Amino acid sequence: MDMIQLVFEISFMVFWVSMFIIRYPYAQRNKSNVIQVNQKSTQEKWLLGCTALGMILLPAVYVATPWFDFADYHLPDILGVIGMVLLSPASILFYRSHRDLGRNWSASLEIREQHSLVNTGVYKYIRHPMYTAIWLWVICQALLLQNYIAGLSGFVSFGLLYFLRVGKEEQMMQTKFGEAYIAYKQKTKRLIPRLF
Ligand code: SAH
Repeated sequence: MDMIQLVFEISFMVFWVSMFIIRYPYAQRNKSNVIQVNQKSTQEKWLLGCTALGMILLPAVYVATPWFDFADYHLPDILGVIGMVLLSPASILFYRSHRDLGRNWSASLEIREQHSLVNTGVYKYIRHPMYTAIWLWVICQALLLQNYIAGLSGFVSFGLLYFLRVGKEEQMMQTKFGEAYIAYKQKTKRLIPRLF
């Protein structure tokens, strides 16, 4: 392996570990929340399983073993460097969205007891900043782990989860918060802030 490929892999794995560290305290704290509405369907469970495979297990296997090496690809170095640069906005947005959602966060489609509608912090600009962060994450994964299996699996699995979930999530929020969510939707875009 080239030196630069190694640098790409290591930087992705440092990022990958820090994502767990960012999420951990929120996952712990929110364990005690009482769930009021649970829309975790069988489809949702499968999709969550796929993203765990594509974003956690396959990258870990790739860096720890030579098993997937036959499926490597090689991108121009500049694309790997862009991937490294994108790791910062991805982690900042991931952290900020956890902090702003606080106890309203959950890995799945759920409404908690005393759920509040968050429309401040990064949520003032976009409705799904955590998904924006995860999109950046899976783009970085494809640019930095240059492998058809471990590099693309994040993009494909999260892409599937995102497109099958986001409409349902907004529907769930609208059922819970009514006019307030409709007004919030009119002021924001899903993933990328409106510039004007
Ligand atoms: N889609 C959001 C949140 C992902 S976590 C983002 O990308 O940042 C998923 C859970 O967050 C959902 O089950 C829902 O209960 C909750 N949620 C989503 N948007 C919210 C908001 N604006 N305020 C409060 N909770 C929200």
